[in-house]
Amino acid sequence: MTQGICIFAEHWKREISAVVYELITAAKQLKEVTGEPVQLMLAAKDCQELLKQLEGFPVDEIYVAKLEEDYDFQEDVLSDIYEQMLRSIQPSCVLIPASDVGRSLFPRVACRLRAGMTADCTELEAAKREDGSFYLRQIKPSFEENVKVCICCKEQVYPQMATVREGVYEACEAVDGDSGTKVQYLEVSLPEASGIQFMEELSCEDSNEKLQASEIVVVGGKGTLKEDNFRLMCQFADKLGAAVGGTRPLMDEGKIPFDHQIGQTGCTIRPKICISFGVSGAIQHTEGIKNTDLFLAVNTAEDAPIFQVADYGAVADMKPILQCLLEMIENGGCNSGN
Ligand SMILES: Cc1cc2nc3c(=O)[nH]c(=O)nc-3n(C[C@H](O)[C@H](O)[C@H](O)COP(=O)(O)OP(=O)(O)OC[C@H]3O[C@@H](n4cnc5c(N)ncnc54)[C@H](O)[C@@H]3O)c2cc1C
Repeated sequence: MTQGICIFAEHWKREISAVVYELITAAKQLKEVTGEPVQLMLAAKDCQELLKQLEGFPVDEIYVAKLEEDYDFQEDVLSDIYEQMLRSIQPSCVLIPASDVGRSLFPRVACRLRAGMTADCTELEAAKREDGSFYLRQIKPSFEENVKVCICCKEQVYPQMATVREGVYEACEAVDGDSGTKVQYLEVSLPEASGIQFMEELSCEDSNEKLQASEIVVVGGKGTLKEDNFRLMCQFADKLGAAVGGTRPLMDEGKIPFDHQIGQTGCTIRPKICISFGVSGAIQHTEGIKNTDLFLAVNTAEDAPIFQVADYGAVADMKPILQCLLEMIENGGCNSGN
């Protein structure tokens, strides 16, 4: 019988990835409905060091495969290892970070297990069938329509696997004292040599860091591409000390880098305040920003869907609003008549 909500404990350079702590929150919420244990599966060379980082977190069981090396990017080897681990753990669900590694590695694992898998979920829910068993409702924006879809695996097909966007759940905190976590080591047999060779690591500047850390984010949509609206918006963000993010059209136009695109195929952010200018509010975008404490939107179209997400909205041309806001910040008042 399958039992447990199992999280892939992704790690890089001897550090557990931050998103794993977010997935513990997600698993805890599912456990409240199903009562199943929260599990982690960890395959690593330096497992002791990684286990130490997981101390105190509300995890019931950690399954560990001690490896001779980490096999970074060698997904033929890793998919074999995780397949063996999941066959042995037999969880009902597997939660995977929707990171580059998770997105690339786990479709292979799902295929080996003949399991169902949903990519890029923004919400997970547990629901009960008539026979009393539970199933996972895997919710994400639809491919094109402005709606969310709920995907469920076929009955009796386990494990139910889902990759989950970073930033969707709040990271859970470690607590003092014994969390009662049981650690169990699993024997895995290593497949023959990998067909993938790791050649070289190239450095890349993580320009997404400020966007993720900022309490205020100013978001531009296609409406900012008119006149000098984008420049004004960036000036405004600068005065506020805010980060700038945007919709896909802004990324397509080269105004923002890809890792500043917010939404289904971009990133998920959780600022305290979000101020959006000229964004229509397509669900593929708003799913990446729905957990904002205060959401303000400016759009010329009264019926723009962004106003259903925003706490406060202004049906207006952004240009005079931005000019006025800049004047207010610079001179302590707005005299331009806007
Ligand atoms: C599978 C899939 C994944 C996707 N992933 C993403 C994603 O990750 N992120 C993303 O952003 N999109 C994504 N998209 C695209 C998404 O569906 C929308 O097309 C996109 O978000 C629209 O961007 P926008 O709001 O900037 O542009 P538009 O929809 O064109 O809206 C522009 C808005 O600006 C307003 N406006 C124009 N001029 C002014 C002005 N002067 N002042 C004020 N308002 C003005 C208009 O009224 C309009 O509402 C995805 C689509 C698909 C199919």
